[in-house]
Amino acid sequence: MKNTRRKSPTHTDPVLERYQGQFEALRAEVATLGFFCKGTVLARRMRCGKATCACQSDPAHRHGPYFEWSHKVKGKTVSLHLQPEEALVYQEGTAQWQRLRTLLGRMENLSRRAIERKTKITNQLRPPQRDTISKR
Ligand SMILES: [Zn+2]
Repeated sequence: MKNTRRKSPTHTDPVLERYQGQFEALRAEVATLGFFCKGTVLARRMRCGKATCACQSDPAHRHGPYFEWSHKVKGKTVSLHLQPEEALVYQEGTAQWQRLRTLLGRMENLSRRAIERKTKITNQLRPPQRDTISKR
């Protein structure tokens, strides 16, 4: 018999086991996420309309910061003006969203490798095809 394929099932594969452990860790991290929102929080410093105001000539004397949360709704950017203490809450929300995106990216990457590995092992476990045997 030419066929000397390994008979190891997927659950004892060390690589898959490592992937599984890493996936569990990422999943546990997702579970720690707080409320999140898309978009960005901006702090703007503005010039006023008074010609004699220091803000007109010196950027360090601009007014503010004024906070704003921007996000897209159906392709359009929507902005909401925020009080400084509100800006903190929104900043936390956008930071959580970034965390989720990072975690999701890692999970996707890891899952793809795990699925590739799993498929490879499954293929190795598959008995030889009937038509392959009959040709010999
Ligand atoms: Zn001014």
